[in-house]
Amino acid sequence: MLKTSARLEAFTESVIRSMTRLANKYQAINLSQGFPDFDPPEILLKSLERVAKDGPHQYSVTWGAANFRAALARKQSKFMGIELNPDENIVVTCGSTEAMMAAMMTVCDPGDKVAVFSPFYENYAADAILTGAEPIYVPLSPPDFTFKKEELRNAFKNGAKALVLCNPSNPSGKIFTKEELESIAMLAKEFDAYVITDEVYEHIVYAPHTHQYIAALPGMFERTISCGSLSKTYAITGWRLGYIIAPLAIINAARKVHDFLTVGAAAPLQEAAVTALEFPDSYYAELQHKYTGLKNTFLSYLDAAGLQYTKPQGAYYVLVDIRHLGWNDDVKFAEWLTKEIGVAGVPGSSFFREPVHHLIRFHFAKKQATLDAAGEKLMKLKKG
Ligand code: GLN
Repeated sequence: MLKTSARLEAFTESVIRSMTRLANKYQAINLSQGFPDFDPPEILLKSLERVAKDGPHQYSVTWGAANFRAALARKQSKFMGIELNPDENIVVTCGSTEAMMAAMMTVCDPGDKVAVFSPFYENYAADAILTGAEPIYVPLSPPDFTFKKEELRNAFKNGAKALVLCNPSNPSGKIFTKEELESIAMLAKEFDAYVITDEVYEHIVYAPHTHQYIAALPGMFERTISCGSLSKTYAITGWRLGYIIAPLAIINAARKVHDFLTVGAAAPLQEAAVTALEFPDSYYAELQHKYTGLKNTFLSYLDAAGLQYTKPQGAYYVLVDIRHLGWNDDVKFAEWLTKEIGVAGVPGSSFFREPVHHLIRFHFAKKQATLDAAGEKLMKLKKG
């Protein structure tokens, strides 16, 4: 029997995406895979129509169309507080998914070690393993998901060449404080390590919390590969537009990886999305307002159903505790909930390295009416 790559034995297919398939099969309300059920801004759809007629329809420059990079550099320079050069500091990728994989392949050789906070978005372990690197997990302990500095130090001591940092964090909704980021930065500098960020939720932040870009801390730009995306910010997850931001030496290496992985992100969609990158600041304020409303709606249903959870500080996920419902197997619970109650979430165990089987992740990037319908169904879980 011919064998496929042994690396693939070290991880399973995405549980998140399998829950979407299960939700579709049972016509459940899909609060598992995190994507909106509302449309992108109308002006963006108009822009897409225009591009359909006027093009471009052929490849762009592999590391991103010049006008897209220029608009992205302007926007990110403003939000990150770093002067970015569109010709030196950006590679446009097929979503942050490719950005993260390309970042990992850019800095790691087979046999290298990579520190990953646990819980983590499931792609990171796969990214490390497919690169031939070995993840070292550093726990973020519920309910507040803080890390012990000593444990992170140990990961670097044990040879981690890079740390993966998802901030705001999927699945926990944690936003790392400035103090936490400073202590991560101190260790990265002490051990001369890279930080690979996933900051796709940079604009989904709940007051009084604020998002601090680790690349903007003193001495960090040169060792940080900031990965981001337009997916969540403009509700265009299907457009697959992401990017890597880093200093030129890293960008030159990342361009090579990206070129051979995918050649480039879709040229027509880059052209159409320039409009979004030029939105005024009020767009981002309204986005926060919208998501704050959706979060409050969903959390009030969880409260009404008597469910315990950790309050999200950012991103659009919430981890819900199922212990009081008498379940000790989150995978079975998630299946039952999808089939019998009609709401799909993701078993928490797929995000944890540790044996955690009492959490379910729901997302609330959904229309108010969808959340109302899901909330009503979740009321069936109310005890007594
Ligand atoms: N980030 C989303 C989630 O965690 C899914 C992204 C994806 O499936 N590519 O649910």
